[in-house]
Amino acid sequence: MNGPETARWEAPLHTERFAPSPTGRLHLGHAFSALTAFAAARAAGGRFLLRIEDLDRGRAREAFVAGIFEDLAWLGIDWDGPALLQSDRLEAHAAALAALERQGLTYRCRCTRRDIAEAAAAPQEGAAPAAGPDGPVYPGTCRGLGLAPGEGLAVRLDMARALAALEGRPLGFEETGAGPAGETGHIPLDPAALLAGVGDVVLARRDGAPAYHLAVVVDDAFQQVTHVTRGADLFPATPIHRLLQALLGLPVPVWHHHRLIRDEAGRRLAKRDDARALASLRAEGATPADIRARLGLA
Ligand code: GLU
Repeated sequence: MNGPETARWEAPLHTERFAPSPTGRLHLGHAFSALTAFAAARAAGGRFLLRIEDLDRGRAREAFVAGIFEDLAWLGIDWDGPALLQSDRLEAHAAALAALERQGLTYRCRCTRRDIAEAAAAPQEGAAPAAGPDGPVYPGTCRGLGLAPGEGLAVRLDMARALAALEGRPLGFEETGAGPAGETGHIPLDPAALLAGVGDVVLARRDGAPAYHLAVVVDDAFQQVTHVTRGADLFPATPIHRLLQALLGLPVPVWHHHRLIRDEAGRRLAKRDDARALASLRAEGATPADIRARLGLA
C-alpha cells in the first residue's frame, strides 16, 4: 500500500514525550505520566522529549513553565534537547489547518460556549446532545452557513465530510495500555461513534489559537514521537487524533494510556488540587522516592 497512510519515520527511534500545559503546578498524575514515559524511553534506548502545551494564552503562565522544569528535574527526569514550546509552532499549526480547509473539511463557527449550551438546553431540540471529549457534541448550527473567515470565529472540522473523505480506509490505532473501559490492542475507529459522540470538533479557537487536537498531532509528528504515553482521560480524544493524522498524512504513533491517579476519596486529581502538587509534597518533606512509592512505581 502506498500513500500517506504508510508514511514511515526515517529513523524509527522509540520516542516518547511528556506534554504538560503550563496552567498550574504538576501533580501526582503528571508525575506518573512523565515517569512512565521516561522509563519507557530509557528502557528502549530511545528519546524522551518535553513539549510545553502553552496555547491557552488566558491560562498559561511563565511561572508554571519554570515549575515544570523544576519538578521534572527534582523527579530525576531529564529530556533530550530543548523543550518545545507549542507557541513557537503556530505557523505549522496554521499550515495544517489550511490543508484541511483546502480539502473542504472545515467551516467557520460563531457560536459561543453559551450558544451551544443554550441550544443543548432548548426543549424543542429534543434529546440532550451526547457528551463528547470536548463537552456537548456541537449541534451544527453554523455548518452550511458558509461564514467567511473573520475575527472571533472558530474553525470546526466537518466530521461527516472528514469521514466521507476517508471512506473505504479502515482506520484504527494500537493501544499498549488501556482506555477507561479496558480497551486495548488494535482499536478500530468507529465512524458512527465519531459522528454522533464526537462531532464537529474545534480546530482553531475563537481567539485564533490552534485547538489542542490539531496542535497535538502536528507537533507529535514534528517531534517524531513514536509512542504517546498519557492518562486514560485522553483516550476518548485518540480517535480524533488518529483521524486528523489520516487527513493530514502524518505518521501514526502507538498509544499507551495509563490508569489515572486518584486522591484518597477516589477523585481524579486536577491542577487546582494544590495538596497533591509535587511542589507542595516536596515542601512537606516528600522525596522523589516517596512519590514513586505513592504512585506504585518501583
Ligand atoms: N497538554 C495535555 C495536558 O496537559 C496533554 C496532551 C497529551 O498528552 O496529548 O493534559
